[in-house]
Amino acid sequence: MSDLNDVNFVKCDCCCLSEECTRCYITTIREMYGGKWICGLCAEAVKDEVLRCGNPDEAMARHLTFCTNFRASGPPQVRLIRAMTQLLRKSSKSMPSSPRDATVLTRSESCLPSLTLDDASP
Ligand SMILES: [Zn+2]
Repeated sequence: MSDLNDVNFVKCDCCCLSEECTRCYITTIREMYGGKWICGLCAEAVKDEVLRCGNPDEAMARHLTFCTNFRASGPPQVRLIRAMTQLLRKSSKSMPSSPRDATVLTRSESCLPSLTLDDASP
């Protein structure tokens, strides 16, 4: 008997990390990524890559290459995960913020005429 809420161990096609997920969730992810199952961390990395290259297929391929290269060099999985987390942190930090705008605001504020209300009273 197969239940969609059955919990199965599934291995990430990118980093080979095993996760325990419901069959329903596994199916959803497989549909999203063209038959591949990827873990939450890889999904985030792929999403990030999509933002950069604009092509989901290319993003997936790039991330696969990243993971394959990392695994080929021999370090344990933990380091790959750390590398990915750093990658994601870096990209979320590079949000568009211009310190110049802040300077302009401060300047215009300091240019405001200082009104002294006390002088107006008779
Ligand atoms: Zn993964």
